[in-house]
Amino acid sequence: MEEAPTSAALDRVLAADVLSPSDLPTFRRSTMDGFAVRAADTFGATEGLPAYLDIVDEVFMGRAPTRGLGTGQCARIATGGMLPDNADAVVMVEQTQEVGPTTIEALRAVAPGENVVQIGEDVRTMDPLLTAGQRLRPQDLGGLLALGITSVPVARRLSVGIVSGGDELVAPEREPGPGQIRDVNSYTLAALIRRDGHTPCLAGIFPDDYAALESAAQTALAANDVVILSAGSSVSARDMTAQVVDSLGEPGVLVHGVSLKPGKPTILAVCSGKPVFGLPGNPVSCMVTYDLFVAPTLARLSGATSPPRMSVTARLTRNIASATGREDYIQVRLERRPDGGLDAVPVFGKSNLIFTLIRADGMLKIPLDAGGLPAGAQVEVVLF
Ligand code: AMP
Ligand code: MG
Repeated sequence: MEEAPTSAALDRVLAADVLSPSDLPTFRRSTMDGFAVRAADTFGATEGLPAYLDIVDEVFMGRAPTRGLGTGQCARIATGGMLPDNADAVVMVEQTQEVGPTTIEALRAVAPGENVVQIGEDVRTMDPLLTAGQRLRPQDLGGLLALGITSVPVARRLSVGIVSGGDELVAPEREPGPGQIRDVNSYTLAALIRRDGHTPCLAGIFPDDYAALESAAQTALAANDVVILSAGSSVSARDMTAQVVDSLGEPGVLVHGVSLKPGKPTILAVCSGKPVFGLPGNPVSCMVTYDLFVAPTLARLSGATSPPRMSVTARLTRNIASATGREDYIQVRLERRPDGGLDAVPVFGKSNLIFTLIRADGMLKIPLDAGGLPAGAQVEVVLF
């Protein structure tokens, strides 16, 4: 936990409840442009039989009124202006008529409190404003600053090390040779981590070489709160992530392989008290498993109470088959129907295509025990 300037705390997770230090508003304010009045002076007023009131003051914004109201008196006031003493309501300017330089007709009666925000009506001293675990939104920052709360306790940003493994990988700046590809995952993961409010730390690209990967992973583990190793998480001889992770500290690998598509070769581990993930190298699988395993872990470690991803309900446009005993995540594009609802249009692609993700707005889950979903089904789409 640390203190952050409120103005810079967007998306940070609040680390403690915040109570209001004072009432808001601190003075009675008009909600309309018009005339501050004593409501009783307007009782019975109608267009045919208006109430006559003397204008005795004009309330200026940002200043206290210079005088209170006596019987039959009113003061010109704008939205947000401070009510004079003895005034208890405001007549909208549209419901008045100026019949002389200092006289108005009130064409309608107002009740006490009408068109007025009372002291403490927004929040009262010691009211709970925000609760620990909330992710701060723009209006939260505005509300805190309205009360003069210029710094807030927030969860520390976690630093997440990213180690990209693969003999075939080159940095994006480089021209890949035959058989080589540019590293995608380091950057997608870094962006996801940053969007989740944490700090990515790119270790770089390492060959499928045990010693090289182990030393990179050790360095990353020492320097960060969480480590992600991208690729090499399957069980073939060229895939060393599991072995490397197991060498990093106790207890090591907890799960190697999940009933999930895409994302089967996922490794979940804890090494010397820190979460370590081995995510599949395929960029689609990598992003899906980040969302399913890493994002909730980071949220939990920060004490966040809301899920890290928003979801919407949509109508599936076609049948999707799925093997039972496996959770399937289908990339979908969302389309707005003329009736205002959303259609979820599956975006299919072979597993090594990267641009299926770019065409998709989110993913939908086919549960472990379902043999698929029919066209027309209402589905929940988790947004990317
Ligand atoms: P692996 O998990 O090592 O079996 O890799 C699965 C697939 O993902 C292979 O086609 C790799 O070339 C590809 N891949 C691995 N790492 C990355 C990366 N950082 N960026 C883009 N593709 C990758
Ligand atoms: Mg590989």
